[in-house]
Amino acid sequence: MVHPSFPSSCTRRRGLIGGLAGLLLLAGCGPAGDGARPGDAAGKPVAEAAPAAPPKLPVVVTFTILADMVATVGGDRVEVATLVGPDSDAHVFSPTPAAAKTIAAAKVVFVNGLGFEGWMDKLIAASGYKGPLVVASDGVEVLKVKPQPHSHRHGHSHGHDHGEVDPHAWQSLSNARRYVANIADALAAADPAHEAGYRARAKAYDERLAQLDEKARARLGAIPASERRVIVGHDAFGYFARAYGLTFLSPRGVSTDSEASAKDVAQLARQIRSQRIRAVFVENISDPRLVEQLARESGARVGGTLFSDALSAKDKRALTYIDMMSHNIEEVAKALAPSGPGS
Ligand SMILES: [Zn+2]
Repeated sequence: MVHPSFPSSCTRRRGLIGGLAGLLLLAGCGPAGDGARPGDAAGKPVAEAAPAAPPKLPVVVTFTILADMVATVGGDRVEVATLVGPDSDAHVFSPTPAAAKTIAAAKVVFVNGLGFEGWMDKLIAASGYKGPLVVASDGVEVLKVKPQPHSHRHGHSHGHDHGEVDPHAWQSLSNARRYVANIADALAAADPAHEAGYRARAKAYDERLAQLDEKARARLGAIPASERRVIVGHDAFGYFARAYGLTFLSPRGVSTDSEASAKDVAQLARQIRSQRIRAVFVENISDPRLVEQLARESGARVGGTLFSDALSAKDKRALTYIDMMSHNIEEVAKALAPSGPGS
């Protein structure tokens, strides 16, 4: 997983981020990185930067899922720097001076929006960046956060107030198609000379997303309605649930910055038992102990890992957004299948 930093200042930036491994992901200064670059899942060749090639468009993206989308649409025309790396939690990110420097060097900055990156406004202000700030989720049908009996806090508590909306809009593939359209528009506006390429890659990507969306509907739609309940560590799957007719229950709210109380956990464990909920999942970004405790207290089995807010570097099943969604769809479908494990 490589989100290349801007090549012009690799050395300097590497020095700056010495102590920040895993937070500010600016590894891979070469144009093609180690080949595991986001967006290459389709098997398209990684473009080689010829010596005479025009400089790439330096863009900053807040987190890995969105970075993969931007890299896929941008192709070999953009250099993507990602602020919050794989398997890391953007809800509780603490920006560094190096992050501000990276943003200052960007031509376009992409955020998810919907209050996901509560730390971003201050960081942009600190960086002095005056270019376009693209909210990738613009135009999606926003999901309000429903108060959950098992979760006593729902918001983020890092000095911002974004209202009661669920930020995890990328968890629906139809929303992702909107993200991709927004990304293509933004890149075309910032770099009109290469608009045709951005549009073509966005179209091809959109077709793959539409296909996977259709597959998800078929796969998850085949699960009996009475079985469609899943437990996860934090409430990141509201859009997935709405898109595919599932119910996700969680001991924590839509952010990861709150602790679940013992009472919440006990109550959810009772519900798992009484409703015979079989699918309990850990997430790649969170400590699995809470979910494991739930499984112990309820007798449910931990079905596996779902990828919620970040791609994975160590787990090869979620190197790209499409891989991540395919994996989540399959894991949930397998866990809830009538003859599936745990029944
Ligand atoms: Zn989240």
